[in-house]
Amino acid sequence: MEAKILNELNRGKYVSGEAVSARLGLTRSAVWKNIGALRRQGFVIEASTRRGYRLVDTPDKLLPALLQPLLKGAPIAGPVIHFQKTGSTAGEARLLVEAGSPEGTIVAAEAQTKGRGRMGRKWITPAGDAIALSVILYPSISPSQAPLLGLATALAARQAVSSVVEKETGVAAAIDLKWPNDIYLAGRKVGGVLVEMSAELDRVRWVIDSIGLNVNNDFAGSPLEKEATSLSSFWDRRFGRLELAAAVLKELGRAYARIRNGRGLAAVAREFEKHDLLKGRRVAVSAPEGAVEGTVAGVDSEGRLLLRLPGGGVRALFSGEVSVRRP
Ligand code: ATP
Repeated sequence: MEAKILNELNRGKYVSGEAVSARLGLTRSAVWKNIGALRRQGFVIEASTRRGYRLVDTPDKLLPALLQPLLKGAPIAGPVIHFQKTGSTAGEARLLVEAGSPEGTIVAAEAQTKGRGRMGRKWITPAGDAIALSVILYPSISPSQAPLLGLATALAARQAVSSVVEKETGVAAAIDLKWPNDIYLAGRKVGGVLVEMSAELDRVRWVIDSIGLNVNNDFAGSPLEKEATSLSSFWDRRFGRLELAAAVLKELGRAYARIRNGRGLAAVAREFEKHDLLKGRRVAVSAPEGAVEGTVAGVDSEGRLLLRLPGGGVRALFSGEVSVRRP
């Protein structure tokens, strides 16, 4: 109902409360209550007894009433479930999967208090500055193909961010990826992807595909100062989170439409290699059996990292168990 009221107010002029209530079949007091709820979410709405209501400003928040219309007709289009603050969008998405939420359900949060990275690491999402999203998917792929979905998500996020930044600043953005899940800007981490899934032997039951992106965060003085950056710190201007989130979700939707039945996955590894920060570089890999050094040769057809070993030979590494660092 809030979305419908917003739609009425979106005409830029004053609209009378009477007209809104008649068009939506609501009582005047129900309209007033919804206006109050919208104001509490950050919408600035003027009210005049004579002329009615006028929408003056909308918040840059990933609210269903704002995000969902931007995704109309896209392969991933919601429903959007929004939290002002939550532990993690991935955790919320997990509860929604268990409650039977449909494919394409999007969980968005203004702040996460227990954002997750890979292998139990923490992901910091300060209130109102970053994008934290999780998408529920039920792809017809085998469990061994799931890592490619993570690579495809990082590629989609990279593509979306590059396009929005170029459109906004007029300058091409050099955004790289680091296998398997990191998004880099000028040598610092600007975002990350986390794919969680439940699978049987030959079939993926569900995937929760999560994306974190530093948009307007300022890491100066924080413990992450040296390793992290945001779009706003790099370009010295703020970016619209709503526009970026919609671009990421649309790009992810396009990628997902190509790969949801497993067929378009073969191209993902080739594409990822093109943008991999560490391709051809010497790296140190921490694996369960100890450290391994080598040169990154590429990504194989299952999304594994190919490491050329100093003594000759190539080893394929699963993303679930290793971390890659520059030595
Ligand atoms: P790997 O290369 O193996 O993925 P990683 O350090 O990149 O290792 P991730 O799980 O991808 O691990 O990301 C979590 C790590 O990212 C945290 O341990 C922290 O160092 C860093 N980090 C946490 N929050 C942010 C953020 N908002 N922006 C950039 N970096 C962050």
